[in-house]
Amino acid sequence: MSFSTLGLAPSLLNAITEIGYQEPTAIQTAAIPAILRGEDVLGAAQTGSGKTAAFALPLLQSLLDNRDGPRQLHGLVLVPTRELAVQVGESIRKLVSHLNMPVKVAIVFGGVSINPQMMALRGGADIVVATPGRLLDLIDHNALKISRVSMLVLDEADRLLDLGFSEELNRILDLLPKQRQNLFFSATFPPAVQKLADGILHQPSRIEV
Ligand code: AMP
Repeated sequence: MSFSTLGLAPSLLNAITEIGYQEPTAIQTAAIPAILRGEDVLGAAQTGSGKTAAFALPLLQSLLDNRDGPRQLHGLVLVPTRELAVQVGESIRKLVSHLNMPVKVAIVFGGVSINPQMMALRGGADIVVATPGRLLDLIDHNALKISRVSMLVLDEADRLLDLGFSEELNRILDLLPKQRQNLFFSATFPPAVQKLADGILHQPSRIEV
């Protein structure tokens, strides 16, 4: 299998080559074409499977395809922890650094002062990687709006629920536009996670690796 058969744009294939990925992982092979077709995706995947690039590459492609006019928040990635926010955000930034396009990726998480994050969001962002509580704080401070998000990613959904983010997730879901694409990744699917997925996803492609 080769990245070139998945439907990715030449600029992204070039970025992948520069980064040195030789072939797509199983989740990338399954998820990338489905996401590019605009489908919702339910992915059962562990860390280390390559799931970050599986959602980041199509997210960047849809951003490159749809960006005209002023910058507005296009992709929202919700993660359970500060560590994961940094890891996922930096992975996306690495891909962006190999593209010939200014894409602003903001990384926000709780447990640190909110002011630098508010400053960083001035002028908007194309993609925000966030923990749920801090995202809501920033929305409450009018530092960002999520009403124009067209792609929502829940990463490690089981850990989001384990860490008690259910109420925050529901508030965030209420603020998002109804018309959007949803990508939902979790390592495990106990009933509460399945219920969350059922409430978010519309006729998803199911991918297990
Ligand atoms: P993730 O599961 O997204 O945390 O990715 C795990 C690691 O695999 C990261 O260090 C990625 O840079 C790397 N990776 C992702 N996709 C590929 C690929 N197609 N080929 C080689 N390494 C990859």
